[in-house]
Amino acid sequence: MPRIQCLIPDLPSPADIAAYLEEMAAARWYSNFGPLNSRFQEEIIQFLVAHSLANAEAEALTCSSATAGLELALRALELPAKAKVLVPALTFPASALAVLSAGLTPVFCDVDDESWMLEPDIAEAALGQGIVAVMPVTTYGRPLPTAPWQAFSEKTGCHVVVDAAASLGQQDTRGSLTFVFSLHATKPFGVGEGGLIVSSDKKLLDSAKSLSNFGFLGPAGVIQARGINAKMGEYYAANGLAQIRRWPDVFEKRKSIWNAYQRAFTGLEGKLLLQKDAEAFVPGTLMVRSSGQGATAFTELAARGIQTRRWYLPALYEHPALREFAEPVTTYPVSEQLKQDLIGLPFHGFLSSDDVAEIVSILSETLGTQ
Ligand SMILES: *Cc1c(COP(=O)(O)O)cnc(C)c1O
Repeated sequence: MPRIQCLIPDLPSPADIAAYLEEMAAARWYSNFGPLNSRFQEEIIQFLVAHSLANAEAEALTCSSATAGLELALRALELPAKAKVLVPALTFPASALAVLSAGLTPVFCDVDDESWMLEPDIAEAALGQGIVAVMPVTTYGRPLPTAPWQAFSEKTGCHVVVDAAASLGQQDTRGSLTFVFSLHATKPFGVGEGGLIVSSDKKLLDSAKSLSNFGFLGPAGVIQARGINAKMGEYYAANGLAQIRRWPDVFEKRKSIWNAYQRAFTGLEGKLLLQKDAEAFVPGTLMVRSSGQGATAFTELAARGIQTRRWYLPALYEHPALREFAEPVTTYPVSEQLKQDLIGLPFHGFLSSDDVAEIVSILSETLGTQ
């Protein structure tokens, strides 16, 4: 066991959810769009509206994971079989797996050098190969600006489904894009396992809902489409309702650790780069950029009992199961460089400011600054 863990989930306690579970047991309703699930869907929209992160007309659909949510959102678009969907090379493999499960073809593109994300200009340059949809990713939890993506979608006619897995509570969903969030235990807003589609497109949500329930729609027992079972159960919805109430505390803790890191990083200017706009959001997982010293930093930190992770690495084009969709590595120069540079540091609400000071001081030694 490392002395300082990279990630520690922050979920509701049994006491936080006891009252919801009593309700569930009394109703004997455990899944299939139960009352806790409906309440969670309503309350999460109210929560987003209260934080100016959703319009009042937006709706949420729960599902079993973000991976399933991405598949459902893509399938609800009713694109031609095998149609091409642009996905950034630097993301969690689920982004590409969802495209494949939806019967579509992922096309991997490089990411921006500063945001480390798929940006609208990259998508625009990649069009012309038959791409009909784009899946930008809120990499490491960095929320994306919606206006440029909406403009991209309007200009090109391309569908945009945002993999916002690690950004619930920070990503603005106002406007016409569709967002998919993860509620996995390792995400900032965790319930254990779960996903959430947020959109103002009622037709898309209705279709995704039916697809999440085998494709049942209309007369009982009749499937209208070949769906899957990707519903959220009531136990997870109970966690979701409790997590909404805990969120101000969960977020404040993360924010204060992030502030401590940013203060500690000031001595490392020139040696260490942060993701674009780093001061404007709280990361889901913390990756910092060195110049080619990722591997050295991993070894040094590990030797001192500090766990590190290479979040979203290897890049999509390097996974054996995805290699058939890979272009030559020269197609992905930024991702290739980020592979050498990125260092995944411990980041969670249970770190102390001493932990942060120690981590950054080891990093300073490693990167050659005192
Ligand atoms: C975590 C993550 C997912 C998968 O979320 P699940 O809810 O575990 O399916 C998808 N995409 C990205 C970018 C992620 O970080």
